[in-house]
Amino acid sequence: MKGLSLFSRLLILSVSVVLVCVAVLSGLGYTNLRDNMIRKHMETLNVHAEEISYLGSRISLDNLSMTSKQNRIAEELLIAKTNLLYEQYNAVTVLVEYSRQYRFYPAIDENVQTNIIPSPEAFAKYDELAFQGKGDIGVKKNAFTSVFSVMVPWVRVNEQTQQSTVVGYVLILSTAQAVRDMYRDLIWQTALAAMAMFLLASAIVFFVAQQMTRPLTAMAKAAGEMARGNFEARAPEGGGKEIEELSHAFNQMGAQLSTLEQSRRDFVANVSHELRSPITSIKGFAQGMLDGTIPQEMHGQYLQVVVDETQRLAKLINNLLNLSRMENEDTSLAYSHFDLNEMIRRVLISRMAQIDDKGLDIQVRFENDSCFVHADADQIQQVVINLLDNAVKYTPSGGTITLFTKTEGSQVSARIKDDGMGIPAEDAPFIFDRFYKVDKAHTVGKGTGLGLAICKRIMERHGQQIRLVSGEGGAEFEITLEKGADPGGNHGNTGAGEN
Ligand code: ADP
Repeated sequence: MKGLSLFSRLLILSVSVVLVCVAVLSGLGYTNLRDNMIRKHMETLNVHAEEISYLGSRISLDNLSMTSKQNRIAEELLIAKTNLLYEQYNAVTVLVEYSRQYRFYPAIDENVQTNIIPSPEAFAKYDELAFQGKGDIGVKKNAFTSVFSVMVPWVRVNEQTQQSTVVGYVLILSTAQAVRDMYRDLIWQTALAAMAMFLLASAIVFFVAQQMTRPLTAMAKAAGEMARGNFEARAPEGGGKEIEELSHAFNQMGAQLSTLEQSRRDFVANVSHELRSPITSIKGFAQGMLDGTIPQEMHGQYLQVVVDETQRLAKLINNLLNLSRMENEDTSLAYSHFDLNEMIRRVLISRMAQIDDKGLDIQVRFENDSCFVHADADQIQQVVINLLDNAVKYTPSGGTITLFTKTEGSQVSARIKDDGMGIPAEDAPFIFDRFYKVDKAHTVGKGTGLGLAICKRIMERHGQQIRLVSGEGGAEFEITLEKGADPGGNHGNTGAGEN
């Protein structure tokens, strides 16, 4: 079976099962019908034997010459009947008296009857049965010879007293060949019916196996197409529940692969685009300074732009590396228990220069003085930095940034809210996508579009969430974290309103 297609295996297996079933069924059917025919035949012979026994009761064996009119008629009828039996069933009738006298009907003809007349030993056995009183048991199929026989008691009626006495038995012998001739046609009929049944069942099996395996063949073809890079290839959905489920799952996989392929292409296009714009401006300014298009006194200003662009490039490359490391999951999270409030304070201090430059007002609304969480501290710090940097970046001078933390049950939530330009509702679903920037004109030169994608990935790896709470009248982001243990056992004091 190795190397055979599923279709061939199914076909061979099913056809073999069908063959065995048809053979067994027709075998059983044939023997049943045959036995039925034989039984019917023997029953018919038995009826004849009864009739012959009746006729025999009217004739006398020992005094055949002294026949009355009634005797003669009985004798003639008996001869006619037994002749008919011989012609019709090739059956020989024997009247056996207990005194061991035998009368054969038709009269013994050596040529015809040698194969049917029982041997003296066989007769001895019949006699024995008759003496034992079993003479009337009827059908004796193949009892002693290849001859089917029926036995009934032979009763003789005393003409004067009208009393009947059992004087022997009537034996009708029919050759096995004669019986076999009756059901010879049955073999052919059964064989033909079996053949028709087998062909029909095989055709159905062929059709069903083809129906079942066709979707699998199509799926294998589609998988081959996918291996060659065509992620649009799909398998037809049909062909039984399990196969339908399989082709459905296969098609879902195909859809996901093509989405992935699309996002990979977009990613490459976005990265190239993001790299090209700073490089173009760096190249342009450097060229301008070299060929004198940019006057000497302006060089300081343009060199600053070049430095800014280089920093943006470095940040972009850093972000890309971070994202790819997280996508590959080759770094496991270093979980620890730490104070989120403390971390936020430190991040705020590190961003004090930018905050002061823009004259932003920072409101800190911590529910408690400390807020312990269980997470990877470096990664969460990255999330806080990205969110705070965005708030600083997209809030105009004089704006307010508010930071909240609170604990609810086993969950901690932190929110960063600003009153800057906000995020339009139509952009809200996409801001966590890589390279997505709201209103390209307003944000030009401000970021890479990777910050929020990194935040989302970090939170996903923690099994936690990040969401945009509101984009109107400024942006408000929320992250959730698992509550951590306070190593000092200090549950913290209320620190709300801290500034
Ligand atoms: P970027 O490096 O461009 O800031 P992010 O992934 O951090 O990339 O943010 C994606 C986009 O979401 C930004 O380009 C900006 O348009 C928008 N955005 C993020 N944070 C804010 C915010 N606090 N206020 C207004 N818009 C924001």
